Amino acid sequence: MMTIETYSPEETYAFGQRIGRAVRPGEVLTLIGDLGTGKTVLTQGCASGLGINEAVNSPTFTILQIYESGRLPLYHFDVYRIEDIDEMEEIGYDDYFFGEGVCLIEWADQIRELLPGQYTRILIEKDLAKGFDYRRITVEGPLEEIL
Ligand code: ADP
Ligand code: MG
Repeated sequence: MMTIETYSPEETYAFGQRIGRAVRPGEVLTLIGDLGTGKTVLTQGCASGLGINEAVNSPTFTILQIYESGRLPLYHFDVYRIEDIDEMEEIGYDDYFFGEGVCLIEWADQIRELLPGQYTRILIEKDLAKGFDYRRITVEGPLEEIL
C-alpha cells in the first residue's frame, strides 16, 4: 500500500500524470471516494500523463468515455448512476476490462462483482482537520510498485 497527500487540485492532477506515464497496457484502476474528492481531477492528470490531448470530463451520464489519442487507449468509466449491472453488459464492458488499454473506473464499488481478479485500487479521502483542499490518496495493487 502506498499513500500520498495532496493540498491542491494541481497536486492531485500531477499525481494522476505520474500514474498515466507509468501505467501498463491492460491495467484496471478503480477510483473510490466521495463526490468531490478529486476522482475526475486525478483521471484528467492520468490522461495527460498518457499523452491524451482531448478534454476529459466526467462521463456521469454516459458510463464510458473513450480517449484514443494517447500512448494507450484510456477507458474512463463513471458508474455512479448505474442501476443494474446489465447496463455494463450492454456497453460490452469486458472488451475494455480485458483489453489492451487502461481502464479507470470511478465509483467501482458499484460494480464490484464485475472487476477482474487483478486491479489497482485508488482511494481518495478528505480530512477536513487538515484543510479543505487536503486529500489522502491510497494506492493498493500492481501499479504501486512502478510509481
Ligand atoms: P469527483 O470526480 O471525485 O466527484 P472532482 O474531481 O470532479 O471530484 O472534483 C474535485 C473538486 O475538489 C474540484 O472542484 C477540485 O478543484 C477540488 N479540490 C480541492 N482540493 C483538491 C485536491 N487536493 N485534489 C483534488 N481536487 C481538489
Ligand atoms: Mg467524477
